[in-house]
Amino acid sequence: MNKIKPNILLIYTGGTIGMIKDFESGALKAFDFKNLLDKIPELQLLDCNIDTISFESPIDSSDMNPEYWVQIANIIEENYNSFDGFVVLHGSDTMSYSASALSFMLENLVKPVVFTGSQLPIGDLRTDAKENLITSIQVASLLDRGKPVVQEVCLYFEYKLYRANRTSKINAEHFEAFASPNYHDLAVSGVHLKVNTDYLLKPNSRKPFKVHKNLDNNIALIKLFPGLSEQVLQNILNTPNLKAVILETYGSGNCTTQPWFTKLLETAINEGIHIVNVTQCAGGSVMMGHYEASNHLKDIGVISGKDITTEAAVCKLMYMLGQNISKKVFKTIYETPLRGEIS
Ligand code: ASP
Repeated sequence: MNKIKPNILLIYTGGTIGMIKDFESGALKAFDFKNLLDKIPELQLLDCNIDTISFESPIDSSDMNPEYWVQIANIIEENYNSFDGFVVLHGSDTMSYSASALSFMLENLVKPVVFTGSQLPIGDLRTDAKENLITSIQVASLLDRGKPVVQEVCLYFEYKLYRANRTSKINAEHFEAFASPNYHDLAVSGVHLKVNTDYLLKPNSRKPFKVHKNLDNNIALIKLFPGLSEQVLQNILNTPNLKAVILETYGSGNCTTQPWFTKLLETAINEGIHIVNVTQCAGGSVMMGHYEASNHLKDIGVISGKDITTEAAVCKLMYMLGQNISKKVFKTIYETPLRGEIS
């Protein structure tokens, strides 16, 4: 392998970027990786060595699950020392979840892991795939005095590089499909590729790289709405083996003050179930106690998700539950930024 040019590993998991139309149904389905590379001869012009690895059966990212996250983590772990950077091609539908999950699973990461995909297949005349892929590879190749410039898990889409665990998919139609409402863009691609170095994570490179593969999905996500019934909430909280619940609340972390609601949550917390408060708003933060309509949550020991995205909140929970963290410190650790996911 050429030592001077950066070595990049392209990991193909599926998604629209490599899809083709099914002849019979006309629906888009995942195709094999070779098809993808044939469509982009430009990759050979990039100033890096590219190796590729693909899921045996690429998937639509709607089928993504924690086992696939472990598969991606394994590929990165096995190739960590041989490559300078990693680009993960992934469907956009659940990309923010996967990229957030990987950000927690890869501890003390000092190399770039860039998730990208596209809204149109790479073979489409108007595709956004080429720019997304080519710039992602360039981002993953950036070196400063032999060291990777980006040392975290990020997501590149439509001219912007974001911290992965700050993103959400916000549009099913526009090429600008992602947003990071609570954190700055890490880089913007225009005439020049402008990296906002001040906003990048600066990990301690002396700490050993560790991959965490134990994820616990005994969790539930409840989006509050006016009219949520006691019965529905009770049924969810009675789920066998349930260990944690994310409540998507209103505004800055507010919810109904009806006694049955508070009582159900309090009982669950006393039984050892962690309750995390995350806002339904795209931007801004939970501030329990700011309104009377959130004081009761604070009083019973609900965890504040602060300005975390729902996607990152889900992944952080699965990761932390997989670490067997004691009940005593769980709240404090959850409320602390582990990978730059909260402010
Ligand atoms: N359904 C596709 C997927 O998430 C959409 C995309 O790739 O943009 O795999």
